[in-house]
Amino acid sequence: MRTVDRYAVAVHSHNLRSDARTSASDADLLAAAGLASKRSPVGLALMRINAGDPHEAARLVEVLAGMLVGKAWHSDREKLPRDEARTMAAQLLAWHLDRSCPHCAGRGFPKVNGAPALGSNPCRHCHGTGRRDPQDAVPHARRWLVRWLQAELEREAGFAAPAVERTLGGDA
Ligand SMILES: [Zn+2]
Repeated sequence: MRTVDRYAVAVHSHNLRSDARTSASDADLLAAAGLASKRSPVGLALMRINAGDPHEAARLVEVLAGMLVGKAWHSDREKLPRDEARTMAAQLLAWHLDRSCPHCAGRGFPKVNGAPALGSNPCRHCHGTGRRDPQDAVPHARRWLVRWLQAELEREAGFAAPAVERTLGGDA
C-alpha cells in the first residue's frame, strides 16, 4: 500500500497501539507523519485532506494565504489584502484536489442536452483538455503569484509521503 493510503487508513484507525512485532504500525505511521510535518507542513496537510480530515482544508487555506501575502511583500513590496489571498489560496487548493474542468466535468466536450453522446465541439472553457487552469480564476497581475504557489504545492505534495517513509526507516 502506498504511504498516502496507509496514512489514510491510520488516521481512521481506532487501534493506535504500536505493535512490537511490526515496525510500522498505525501509531508509528502517525508519529512519523507528525515528525515529517515539521519539515513539510503543507505536504502533510495535503495528506490529511486526502485522508478525509474535514478541518484541514480551512487550516491549510490560511497557511497558503499567509504564504501569498509574504511572497507578494518580499518580491514586490506589495501588500496583498488577506481576503484576496485567502480567495486565491482556496481556489488553488480546490484546483489541486480536483483539476477537472467544472464546465464539462473533465470530459473535454460538453454534453448535449437530451442526447446521450457528447458534443463534437471541444469545451470552450478548457478547449477540450478536460482540465482547468488555476490561473484562469485570477486577474493577470496576480498570475505569477498563483504560479508560484502552485509550484510550492506540487513540491510539497511530492515531499510529504517520502518524508514519512524516511522517518519510518525505509520500511514503508
Ligand atoms: Zn471543459
